[in-house]
This record gives sequence, C-alpha cells and structure tokens, in this order.
Amino acid sequence: MHIVVFSGAGISAESGIRTFRDADGLWEGHRVEDVASPQAWLRNKNLVLDFYNQRRLNLLQSQPNAAHLALAELESEYQVSVITQNVDDLHERAGSTKVIHLHGELMYARSTGNPTFRQRLDNGLLHADMHCPEGFPLRPDIVWFGEAVPMMDTAISIATKADVFIITGTSLEVYPAAGLVNFTPHDCGIWLVDPNRHQELSKQGIRCIAKPAGIGIPEAIAEIKKRYSTGGRHS
Ligand code: NAD
Repeated sequence: MHIVVFSGAGISAESGIRTFRDADGLWEGHRVEDVASPQAWLRNKNLVLDFYNQRRLNLLQSQPNAAHLALAELESEYQVSVITQNVDDLHERAGSTKVIHLHGELMYARSTGNPTFRQRLDNGLLHADMHCPEGFPLRPDIVWFGEAVPMMDTAISIATKADVFIITGTSLEVYPAAGLVNFTPHDCGIWLVDPNRHQELSKQGIRCIAKPAGIGIPEAIAEIKKRYSTGGRHS
C-alpha cells in the first residue's frame, strides 16, 4: 500500500515553528510579499537574508515532533511518500526517506546564475557576500510566492499513485500545491488532520480529524491500519 502525506506549516507548529496564516496573515511579523517574493529580494536583499537567517537559526534549535516521527515510522510497514510545502527539514530528521519539498529547503542556498548549484548552510547563515564557484551571488533555496514550482509535476505523479492520502497542517490556500488532492485516484482514502478544519471537506468524503498533528496523525494512522487490514480500500 502506498501512503502519500501532504504536509504544511501546521505539522511543525508543535516543534516551535510558527505557521503564518495563524498569525493574522503575517509570517513572524512580516507580510509575505516583503520577505518571500522575488520583488522583495530585488528591493531589500538584507531584509530577506536576515529573515531566512532567523528562520534557519530557529530550525536548528527545533526537533521533529510526534507527528513527524509517526509518519517516519510508517515506512517500516508501507511505501510512504511525503510531499511537503514546508521548507524545514523535520520530516527528514524524523527519519522519512522520500520527501519532496514543493517550496524549497531552508537549510540550502542556491546560485542566482547556475541553476544546478546548491550549498548546505550548516551554521544557518547566508550573507550577501557569499557566491557560487562561478561568482554568482547565492540566494535562499526557497520557491518564493510568484515563482514556478519545479517539483509540482513530480508531486502530481506521486499523488496519482496514492492508495491513502493524508493532508495535515495546511490551509490549502497556496496554489498550485493546494490542488494536489485533486490528482488522487477516485478510490483513494483521504484523511485530513488539522485542529481548525474542515466541515466542508468532510462532506466530500474526506475523513477529518480536528486535532493538532501530534495527536491527530497517530490517530489517523491507527484508523488507516484498521481499515486496510480488514479488507482493503472499500471496507
Ligand atoms: P498556513 O500557515 O497557511 O496554514 C497552517 C495550517 O496549519 C492551518 O490550516 C492551521 O489550522 C493548521 N495548524 C495549526 N496548528 C496545527 C497543528 N498543531 N497541527 C496541525 N495543523 C495545524 O500553512 P501552509 O498551508 O503550509 O502555507 C504556508 C506556506 O508558508 C507554505 O508554502 C510554506 O512553504 C511556508 N511556511 C513554511 C513553514 C515551515 O517550513 N515550517 C512555516 C511557515 C510557513
């Protein structure tokens, strides 16, 4: 059985990494267009660099929580693919081995001139005077608002092969990522774990568990194991 997990910022909330829609649409006190867009990078590089340096230092002090760990543990029994909108590396640090980052990775910088060059930022800091070997400035390896999402086709292809699709910690407001669920097969079992959602989704046949991921994900996994050990998809 192939379980596909689609996660967003909320799964990392219990690790101490804040979501942004839960705080009046601001991300750590900033409007997203001021820190997470190509225009922001052109307008004020130092503000953008400083913002992501702070996010990285926060991430280095954070640990995977019960939800990340439970999803990693699933790999001992099932084929599991994680598709995340998150830029943190908590899925990997929990032990998940197949993780697709739709919106980039906080712990990496990439070249502004050579699309193949990436560099890990082990101490968490990226400065304006850092360059790739060809001399192009480095930028955060983040897919900013308004930029193309290069991993989307890969993610769609994975979603089309899901037997079970678990959505957690996402407001489903950032497209194209939010549309991924539409590519799951018609008989795919869909679970949604989010403390603030979603009556309207339960009407569409999605099983909603309105709890924080640390409690709700282990609960969803227990339900999935029970349902699929007693007769397959339609039981
Ligand atoms: P979002 O901020 O738009 O929505 C967060 C969702 O998580 C909400 O639906 C909220 O109800 C839910 N939530 C809050 N606490 C939760 C918990 N304990 N357990 C489960 N769910 C919880 O997040 P989004 O949809 O992922 O969009 C945010 C964008 O910002 C993404 O593209 C992402 O790249 C970026 N971002 C990433 C991080 C990160 O990497 N950890 C953090 C903030 C923002």
